[in-house]
Amino acid sequence: MNQNSVAVKKDSRVLFVDMNSFFARCEQQVNYWLRGRPVGVCVYTGKYGCVISLSTEAKERGLKAGMRLNDAMLVCPDLVPVESNPARYRGYHTKIINVLKEHCMDVVPKSIDEAIINLTHHENTDPLTIAKKIKREILERVGDWLTCSVGIAPNAFLAKLASVRGKKQDGLLMITHDNIDDILRPLRLGDLPGIGGNMSYRLERAGVMTPLDMRYAGPQKLKAIFKGIEGVFWHYRLNFIETNIVSHEYRGMQAMRQISAEKRKSMEYIDQLFMTLCLTLEKRMVKHKFRCKAVGFTARYEDGTRWDDAFALTTPIQDAISLMRGIRLRTEKFMDMMNCGPIFNNDITQMRVSVTNFVNADNMLYSLFEDMDQKETAFKTMHAIKDKFGSDKLIRAVEMTDGQVIKDVIGFGSVKDLSELDYKA
Ligand SMILES: [Mg+2]
Repeated sequence: MNQNSVAVKKDSRVLFVDMNSFFARCEQQVNYWLRGRPVGVCVYTGKYGCVISLSTEAKERGLKAGMRLNDAMLVCPDLVPVESNPARYRGYHTKIINVLKEHCMDVVPKSIDEAIINLTHHENTDPLTIAKKIKREILERVGDWLTCSVGIAPNAFLAKLASVRGKKQDGLLMITHDNIDDILRPLRLGDLPGIGGNMSYRLERAGVMTPLDMRYAGPQKLKAIFKGIEGVFWHYRLNFIETNIVSHEYRGMQAMRQISAEKRKSMEYIDQLFMTLCLTLEKRMVKHKFRCKAVGFTARYEDGTRWDDAFALTTPIQDAISLMRGIRLRTEKFMDMMNCGPIFNNDITQMRVSVTNFVNADNMLYSLFEDMDQKETAFKTMHAIKDKFGSDKLIRAVEMTDGQVIKDVIGFGSVKDLSELDYKA
C-alpha cells in the first residue's frame, strides 16, 4: 500500500501516535515499584551497558538515551537500571496496534512505538474525537501507564511534528492550514525530524534560516540546496502533500550461520562469512525496496558467552558495506574502551546479523546522503547480474572488491566516523 500522491491535502486527517518513553513505561507498567522512579532500560545492566530508553522521571533528571550506565549513575545515583525485554515491548506494540485498528484499518506501524492512522478515506469520522478515544483506550485496555502523544495533520510528516510539539500540551496537537505558520514560527531548522546539523548549515547558507522560510522557499530552491529530489520532498512535507505513508509486510530480517570447529580456524573464513551475511540482507532489502534504521549483531563463542549489539542509525542504510562498517566500528570502539581482545576471533561458533525499522526506499524521508540513489543503482545492478548468471566467480569478484574497500574504510575508521551512528537503541 502506497498512499502517496502529489495532491495538496486540505483536511487534517492523518494521525501520528507516538508512545511516550515506551520501553521504560512498559517496565513501569509490569512492575509497580518502578513507577514514579527514574528508570533506565539497558540491553545489559553491567557498568558499560548502554541506556536505550529512559522513564519520564529519568529524563527530568537530565539523563539522555545512549549514555553508558556508569555515566548515567553519576548524574542520577538513584536510577534503576532494568534489562530490556524485547518480547514484552512487541507484545504491547501488538496490543496497541490492535486498538488503533478498531478505528480504521489504514494503520501503518512506523516503529515499535509509533504508528500512522490515515483517516483520509473515512470521511464520517472526526480525527480529534478519535485521537482522544485512542489515548483513553490505550490507558484503559492496554496499560494504565502507557501514555502517548497524538499529532494530527494533513500529512504524516506534519502529524509526526505535531506529535512531538504536542507532548507538552496533553499529548494532542492538530496542525492545519490555518495554524501551521504559527506552529512553525518559533521552531529552528533542527527541530524538524530529519534535519541534522549539516543540513541546517547548508539551508542557512542559502538564506533559509527557519522552518517557516523553508515552507515558503519553493521546490526548486530546496531541490538546489538538497542537491536532489529530497529537497522537493521537503517542500511537499511542509505544504500538505503526502510523501511518508508506506507499509510493507516485514518487521525485520536476519541472516545467521553456524561455524564449524574446522572452519573457524580461519579468520579469513569468518570475515567472509560476516560479509556474506551482510550481503544477504542487502540483497533482500534491495529486492523489497527498503532501508533499515536499526541493526543487530550477535556472535556466540565456544565457551558459551556471546557478543550482542543493537544500534539505531540516523541515516537509513541498505548496502552491505554500511552494515559491516557500522557493526565493525561498534565492536572496535568497544574493544578500545574495554581494552579487550578482538570480538571477531577464532572462537566464534555462530554469527547473526539482523536489520529492522525499515523505511521505504522510494521516498527517503530522513536520509541526508546525496549519493544514495547512485549507490543503490550500482548495488541493484550487481544483484541483477548475480541473479541472472548465478556465477560464483562473478559474485566473488564483486565481493572481493567490496572487501578491499571495507578493509580500507575500517583501517581509517576512527571515532569521528561514529558520529554517523546514533546510539539510541
Ligand atoms: Mg516514542
